Amino acid sequence: MNWIKDRTKRVSMIRTITQLVFLLLIFYISIVAVWKGLLLVVVLGATVCLGRLFCGWACPLGLYLDLTTLIRRALRIDHWSLPRKLNENLHKTRYLIALAITLLVLGGTFSMAADFENFVWLRPPYTPFAFMLEPLQPIVLPWQPPFGALAGLSGVYLTFPYVGEFLLYLHSTSLAFPLAYLFVFAVLAASFKVRRVWCRFCPTGVSAGALNRFRVFSWIPLLRLSKKGEKCTKCGICQRVCPVQVTEVYEKKDGDIHTSMCTVCLRCVEMCPERNCLSLKLAGQTIYKSRSWLDGSSV
Ligand code: SF4
Ligand code: SF4
Ligand code: SF4
Repeated sequence: MNWIKDRTKRVSMIRTITQLVFLLLIFYISIVAVWKGLLLVVVLGATVCLGRLFCGWACPLGLYLDLTTLIRRALRIDHWSLPRKLNENLHKTRYLIALAITLLVLGGTFSMAADFENFVWLRPPYTPFAFMLEPLQPIVLPWQPPFGALAGLSGVYLTFPYVGEFLLYLHSTSLAFPLAYLFVFAVLAASFKVRRVWCRFCPTGVSAGALNRFRVFSWIPLLRLSKKGEKCTKCGICQRVCPVQVTEVYEKKDGDIHTSMCTVCLRCVEMCPERNCLSLKLAGQTIYKSRSWLDGSSV
């Protein structure tokens, strides 16, 4: 239990445990067949108040990506950082991807006019909801997913976020399974070297963070990072440790940090070596702040 004493790992470990608990919870919700639209409303509703806390602490796909990072670290292999301009452009591209997917799926939705009276259009996969909920997909299922699985043995099926969409929309072609496997391999291989790589494109994350983009809504999130400029020594650690390469924490002179890229993982606060320089505030109250972990006597 050394990680409990180690202030550079404590929050990260608690976060991993929380992600695992949420994975089990989401697995249970899948079993009891809660209407998935409700799940999306809860996720996006919570985001309005809490920022992208879901992305940092609960998303199953985020957990799978973080696990590849843990494996890479255990193997002592360095990660790649994307060039800043490319990273920013990828984050912007998320909006286009989200828009394109929404229009495409809505197009499919409205072409099913005959089924409107049966409310088929309200249920996945005929709504954008299905795509937006893909990051919540458990990868092991005790039943066959409706559009197929990557593999199955003795009633246990292996799948991955977005595989259902591949098999649904390409089911009539021989390309469906190869493309689905290629997609999974590409995401996992890329995330092995580039931390949280999918989160830089993800349309679910973009919709969750979209409100933060507009100044008029910037007062809404109750949960936010804040910085005391006079404490910052410009050491750059916060920038280096951020899994999605947010630069605002480093660059901000003072005060609250507004960025839709931040997943509130708290790695920057955990690693900032200056006491009380970075903090997490809930409704204006500090609930977690950086400690001087470099100096054991002052922690
Ligand atoms: S950006 Fe998408 S994949 Fe990443 S944590 Fe958020 S919802 Fe999950
Ligand atoms: S880690 Fe802390 S002290 Fe270092 S640059 Fe970031 S905010 Fe400043
Ligand atoms: S800015 Fe800090 S809290 Fe936000 S994603 Fe980066 S490391 Fe995590």
